[in-house]
Amino acid sequence: MSVATIQSGTSRRLRHNTRHHSIHHIIKPTKNKNRTDTNNTGFLILALLLVAAIIKSIDRWLFKQKRIRRRDYYRNVYLRSEAWRRKRYVVLKRDDWRCVYCGAPAAEVHHNRYARNIGNEPIKWLVSVCKTCHEAIHYQP
Ligand SMILES: [Zn+2]
Ligand SMILES: [Zn+2]
Repeated sequence: MSVATIQSGTSRRLRHNTRHHSIHHIIKPTKNKNRTDTNNTGFLILALLLVAAIIKSIDRWLFKQKRIRRRDYYRNVYLRSEAWRRKRYVVLKRDDWRCVYCGAPAAEVHHNRYARNIGNEPIKWLVSVCKTCHEAIHYQP
């Protein structure tokens, strides 16, 4: 091995080391610390977002279940009850057995609003309707 080879090898290593060190010195004290903090904060935010998303979907599911139960109760219990039959009769009689929209003979009663407690809706929230208008109200796009 010649002296020239050793020298050039050493100087290359030295040059490399110096560059390496200088980069670390520039980056390490300031940026590395900040990056760690940002990562922790980012993780925390992600975790919180995940928890919020889970809570939201559970909440939505519960709300949907409640609505289905309410609808089933309304259809299967309330609309078959004596209380509803009486109320329905009062409404039809008030509207003279005529559809409030087209004047055709009314056979059904429509809720303009629903009470929070099913069965507590006042008569004024109910209107007599014919089958055609009733379907139009419920299935209009
Ligand atoms: Zn009608
Ligand atoms: Zn209706």
